[in-house]
Amino acid sequence: MIDQFGPDYVRAIAPYQAGKPIAEVAREFGLDEAAIVKLASNENPFGLPESSRQAMAAAAAELGRYPDANGFELKAALSKRYKVPADWITLGNGSNDILEIAAHAFVAAGQSVVYSQYSFAVYALATQGVGARAIEVPAREYGHDLDAMLAAIEDDTRLMFIANPNNPTGTFIPAAQIQAFLDKVPAHVIVVLDEAYNEYLDAEHQFESADWVRSYPNLMVSRTFSKAYGLAGLRVGFAIAQPALTDLMNRIRQPFNVNSLAQAAAIAALNDKEFLARGAANNSAGYRQFVEAFDELGLEYVPSFGNFVLVRVGDAPDAGARVNLELLKLGVIVRPVGNYGLPNWLRVSIGLPAENAIFIAALKKVLG
Ligand SMILES: *Cc1c(COP(=O)(O)O)cnc(C)c1O
Repeated sequence: MIDQFGPDYVRAIAPYQAGKPIAEVAREFGLDEAAIVKLASNENPFGLPESSRQAMAAAAAELGRYPDANGFELKAALSKRYKVPADWITLGNGSNDILEIAAHAFVAAGQSVVYSQYSFAVYALATQGVGARAIEVPAREYGHDLDAMLAAIEDDTRLMFIANPNNPTGTFIPAAQIQAFLDKVPAHVIVVLDEAYNEYLDAEHQFESADWVRSYPNLMVSRTFSKAYGLAGLRVGFAIAQPALTDLMNRIRQPFNVNSLAQAAAIAALNDKEFLARGAANNSAGYRQFVEAFDELGLEYVPSFGNFVLVRVGDAPDAGARVNLELLKLGVIVRPVGNYGLPNWLRVSIGLPAENAIFIAALKKVLG
């Protein structure tokens, strides 16, 4: 039936598979919602910051009006934080929106986009959505092979996506390597450096990628409030790039793509250093908790720089799907990654200590 509608490249798209909502698992498996642990979408286990809740309550009175289409106050706060002019910033309905806008603004149908195997699923979707050609470069040790990505650039390549840290594998590329790579990328190719998990990096790995934007006119840095800032449900992300790129982004984005509550909540969260610090500390402790358990169970995992870990749960080709189903029956939601070409693995988000313990106990039970 669908053959008669839409272009071929839209029909070829496999829709994004999101983490299962708690309510859906409760219905499907006849479980009590309160007993379900969700470690499937790399959300912040502390939830919404209290500072954001208060900012939204204050902003609610004005919800009868359209949001500020230019996001003046949020951009001012980001401009101050990242030391870039406000007109270098694009706000997005989540950073997912930023990735989509970038594909629409920078790539024409038929041109090519380069990204890595095992990198974020939205790169493929954004590429296909504009009828562009994907050049997927084989990963190296589950991460980006920057040399191979450079070699893969063709005359019609207009855009590259790099996730650092990467999702779903958790791999990280040190600053010096990214900079050496940026030095070699041809001027006509735009690099979107997607740093959704940047705030989880420890001081030793942190770097001011926003500063690079000054040196590289073809670089766009993308960040989100969905992960470390705890605002996933509000949908707010942003990009930093020089005005030539930002101006093109602004022509494509929906005028009111970030709603008023999200703008208010993001400003509050950006200034909530205590919330970020608490999240980072919980994340490192949870990572150790996971790694100890995986070592004890003899499971291979990819060392992670994000708030999740990719773990190999068996040799059978359907190990990920099978273990995932057994975990769901026990009320634990994690993310199978067969759609990424990793059918033996599961991606597990780091939760609160008690949630991590429930997952570990369930995993031990399932693996016998
Ligand atoms: C979660 C994630 C995003 C997008 O999150 P938004 O909620 O749309 O901001 C972008 N990139 C990567 C690598 C992610 O894991």
